[in-house]
Amino acid sequence: MKTKKIIKGKLLTAISPNRVLYLDPSYLVISEDGVIEDVCKEIPKSGEYDQEFYDYSEKLICPGFIDIHNHLPQFTLSGLYRGNLLEWLSEIVFPAEGRLSSPEVAERFAEQFFLELLSKGTTTTSSYVTSHKEATDIAFRYAERSGIRAFLGNVLMDQNAPDYLINDTQVLLRDSEGLIEKWDGYDNGRLRYVLTPRFAPTCSFDLLQGIGKIAQKHGVHIQTHLAESKEEIATAMDIFSDFENYTDVYSQAGLLTERTIAAHCIYLNDSEIETLQKTGAKISHCPSSNRFLQSGIMPYRKLEKSGIPIGLGTDVGAGYSLSMFSEMREAIESSKTIHFLDPSTDYKPITSIEAFYLATLGGAKALSLDDETGSLEKGKSADFSIIDIAQLNVFNEDFFSNPEDLISKLIYSSGENYIEKVFIKGKLVYKK
Ligand SMILES: [Zn+2]
Repeated sequence: MKTKKIIKGKLLTAISPNRVLYLDPSYLVISEDGVIEDVCKEIPKSGEYDQEFYDYSEKLICPGFIDIHNHLPQFTLSGLYRGNLLEWLSEIVFPAEGRLSSPEVAERFAEQFFLELLSKGTTTTSSYVTSHKEATDIAFRYAERSGIRAFLGNVLMDQNAPDYLINDTQVLLRDSEGLIEKWDGYDNGRLRYVLTPRFAPTCSFDLLQGIGKIAQKHGVHIQTHLAESKEEIATAMDIFSDFENYTDVYSQAGLLTERTIAAHCIYLNDSEIETLQKTGAKISHCPSSNRFLQSGIMPYRKLEKSGIPIGLGTDVGAGYSLSMFSEMREAIESSKTIHFLDPSTDYKPITSIEAFYLATLGGAKALSLDDETGSLEKGKSADFSIIDIAQLNVFNEDFFSNPEDLISKLIYSSGENYIEKVFIKGKLVYKK
């Protein structure tokens, strides 16, 4: 006889940018292979199968978070400031990434990084590793063990970076294909390879074009940075002076596809936005990082209006926390700043419900994973965390009958501190 898990609790899940479903009590029925078979208000009758019952009546069942942009080798350097993006990269980031040429260091980083993500309720990550093939292979091995859902890629650079981080164009392309063959699609797609050109300034056009061809051949994802800071754009346009704009470099190289995530996108002009729209590329909004490096504020409403799918990325180490609660808070606060600086417009700040959507279902859509994860619905993978909200409500006030207040309270009270357990594909992967 088959055994199914029944999880009782207060279920909260985004179903659209402006709507959440909040069921109290609710029962999640999870199959042996970790798929949500039902979400119901009454306890399901047993008979045809054995039940493993878990009672979290006073706790919240929250979909796993989806961090669509971060850097594995950088999480120990969060908070170290050295001026703008380009200064910070050369003084802090490149030397730190160089250390992962040692397999022992790469192992220590990978182990701790995935544990940190899980402890904060993140069940899906899209991460840049380093330029080292071996460190990336190690990252895949640790992601495999940890149970996390991950897109991982070695950072591709063949120019304008220290010698110890760049490599020959053809070697880089061969390394990528080797990693694709070994890891892409592992464990029914839980692990995927993502082609990761750091950004235009550190890549020759030959490399960018080669990446575009591999993406097409294998149908894999691409992640990169785009229009993050004014200095970066000036550098890119200096190197690629024959191109119309920054986006045009990626577009002509064949890098913009429905499986491409462009991070930051703060300074895109209308024609660049149109290019992203036409190609089906997606955007990672990284508000903490943008503030930390003083890069700017992404015009969220303008990009949202264009219809380009947007998710949230912590962009650790320029972002200073792997917590998606922290990133949601920054997304809301930075959009309030846009309104504050120009109150004459009808710009509406991001609401807590919208931020919650971006951190879950929005991120899944940006990664084209929304059939699989991002919300707690029938047919999707059981990727969720159990949050002890009673600790947030010491005087038992009635904050929690309204889901918008509940989400807001979690966002502004460092909700990651109350995460007790995390499940991916119905399996316990983290326990406090
Ligand atoms: Zn980044």
